[in-house]
Amino acid sequence: MDIQTKALHVGYEKGSEGAMAVPIYQTTAYEFKDAQHASNLFSLKELGYIYTRLNNPTTDIFEKRFASLEGGAAAIATSSGMSAIFFAIANAAEAGDNIVCAKQLYGGSLTLNTHTLKRFGIEARYFDVHDTAALEKLIDEKTKIIFFESLTNPSIDVADIEAITAIANKHGILSVVDNTVATPILCRPFEHGADITVHSASKYTTGQGLAIGGIMVEREELVEKLRSNPRYEHFNKPDASYHGLVYVDANLPPYSLRARLSLCRDLGAVLSPFNSWLFIQGMETLSLRMREHSKNALALAEFLESHPKVKKVNYPGLKSNSNYANAQKYFQDGACSGLLSFEVASFEEAAKILNATKLYSIVVNIGDSKSIITHPASTTHQQLNEQELAACGVPSGLIRISCGLESAADLIADMKQALEA
Ligand code: PLP
Repeated sequence: MDIQTKALHVGYEKGSEGAMAVPIYQTTAYEFKDAQHASNLFSLKELGYIYTRLNNPTTDIFEKRFASLEGGAAAIATSSGMSAIFFAIANAAEAGDNIVCAKQLYGGSLTLNTHTLKRFGIEARYFDVHDTAALEKLIDEKTKIIFFESLTNPSIDVADIEAITAIANKHGILSVVDNTVATPILCRPFEHGADITVHSASKYTTGQGLAIGGIMVEREELVEKLRSNPRYEHFNKPDASYHGLVYVDANLPPYSLRARLSLCRDLGAVLSPFNSWLFIQGMETLSLRMREHSKNALALAEFLESHPKVKKVNYPGLKSNSNYANAQKYFQDGACSGLLSFEVASFEEAAKILNATKLYSIVVNIGDSKSIITHPASTTHQQLNEQELAACGVPSGLIRISCGLESAADLIADMKQALEA
């Protein structure tokens, strides 16, 4: 089935009412048929709904539909993109372990990995996303995750997914790809060897800046990588917190199962049914929107590249861009999503441009249908020091644009007047 058809139909069977739109099951809990039924659900003898912190029919459809777009086996929806990332890491790593991460990450992921995980006893080690030799040197027997973004925010690099996942596979380590900016429409990391993907659904999935949410997806047959793998004993040995369940023997996608039974249960960062419903609406038009976002971004990038005030444009759809070959290899039809950045002379010059634009809203978000302009050094990346900023490719004159769905001609005209104001 084509991805656009899946986005409209997967996971939803109409009930006797024939409702065309997926219903919102706005409920906290579910009545059991009898005491035995309740007991069977808790012991996993039967699968069903228990309590919305564990599962919910509307969220279930969102999870199944998103997993099918990504080409995965199962998914867990979370209350935000950050909680999806935390779940993906916490499901594998514990105190004393380390994770190996690309330097070019979303600012929130950098602070999570460097500062918050450190307080949990998990060390983050960083490699340049284009230096896979450096990546391999960081691995040891305590490495549990290799984490990177397929299309990085805000440095706009395209990872060589196959090179990185080959190293992860060689060492039997789980690779986790944040595929937020590319979306499953443009890039499918599982086809290139990745094990788990995470997304901020707050971006292109909703598409109109309507809600915060996240999702973690696991590939098919991940059980084989986890089975008997000494790095992941907690998937292979009885879980004392769930009546001795051995996740790899449960005949269900094990990474999602453990995330649901342990992390959703104990951390509770789950998605509300209403937000699941919003994301289901967003998915219906995701592939159409991604095409238009990509077209607009390419047109704006080409204009910016020709402007004398612009020192550098970062957009992998430009032939001049060092990521062009990776983009052609990993992205559907070479379409590169709506995110681009460009560099002007200084912090002050960047501020002047932000203030002069009329169509671009100064907002710290991406993936909205309305265009957005951001100055990462003073906002999303403010918590990073000079060295950290330089390391993740965010100079002080960098401006990030999330190209919306306005007409490309209007976006270019407004940017021109702002540059020349
Ligand atoms: N990953 C990427 C690439 C992001 O851009 C963001 C947010 O901007 C996140 C994760 C975090 O997502 P959320 O804001 O939904 O927690």
